[in-house]
Amino acid sequence: MKVIVCDKTESECIEKMRAAGLDVDVRDTVTPEELPDVLPAYDGMVVRSRTKVRQALLEKCPNLKVIVRGGVGLDTIDVEYARSKGIAVMNTPLASTDSVAELTIGLMFALARSIVQATASMKSEKWDKKSFDGDEIGGKTLGVIGLGNIGKGVAKRAVALGMSVVAYDPYAKDSGGFKVVSNLDELLVAADYITLHMPKTSETAGMISKKQFELMKNGVRIVNCGRGGIVDEVELAAALTSGKVAGAALDVFAEEPPTDWSLVKLPNVIASPHIGASTKEGQGRVGMEVADIMINFAKSQK
Ligand code: NAD
Repeated sequence: MKVIVCDKTESECIEKMRAAGLDVDVRDTVTPEELPDVLPAYDGMVVRSRTKVRQALLEKCPNLKVIVRGGVGLDTIDVEYARSKGIAVMNTPLASTDSVAELTIGLMFALARSIVQATASMKSEKWDKKSFDGDEIGGKTLGVIGLGNIGKGVAKRAVALGMSVVAYDPYAKDSGGFKVVSNLDELLVAADYITLHMPKTSETAGMISKKQFELMKNGVRIVNCGRGGIVDEVELAAALTSGKVAGAALDVFAEEPPTDWSLVKLPNVIASPHIGASTKEGQGRVGMEVADIMINFAKSQK
């Protein structure tokens, strides 16, 4: 089976696929303009976040059999169209769970203690002991919206840190032993910290907006390591400016990279460039899972 690897992928993944007999070409700088000419020669493709696989591209590839995405979401692929054409679409849903959960917890501590702002102050040679009075996170209530793999991973860690957890997820397969409320408003009024871990869908886009901010506690802190656009960024900026929201930590944005940086530049915002899954361990697991999925698919074709 001929496989094209379109995005940066661990060398161990490539070697494992080759060792299993797959004919693998690494084309991790291939551009969207080149792909329609390149892709038809392959049976399988490996993508991460960079390469988008839309219907117009798939229409040019009648022989493509499988797309494997290293990552959690499948929003970069027109999955329904691909499957309607008999193309298998698979991903690695568990490989980055712990990495994202750990970043989320790290960002909560950073918000509670202004670690990023204090560091910036020190780097500008200021010894400012007055501006960074913080809070302990122990004893506080964490609202987890989206109680899937990552949401549960965050909730488990938060409980270990002495927090109470309240979760909202109308589609959760199980509660994981956490308190789940059936109405989002109940979570919004109760939480000192709110963390978002659901996909961006037509239902979740803009789900946290003006009305939801109004219901939250004064001084609430928000972490978004889920998807950009779930939080209305204009309303978030307003709530941060008024002090309703004391701080926000954002790893994901409605537009990536943002063209408007004004939200990121607010003094009570800390931000990272969508690095939730970017750990050695997480990426290693993604690579190995991608290889296993591709190898098993190839075997199933024999
Ligand atoms: P998951 O599928 O295990 O969990 C998602 C959960 O969201 C599910 O339990 C689902 O029922 C819930 N959900 C769906 N619609 C909802 C709604 N309207 N309200 C509340 N909950 C809703 O996925 P996961 O592995 O836990 O990942 C969660 C999110 O994290 C995904 O959107 C993923 O794209 C994102 N993610 C971000 C990074 C990063 O680098 N920051 C890395 C990996 C994943």
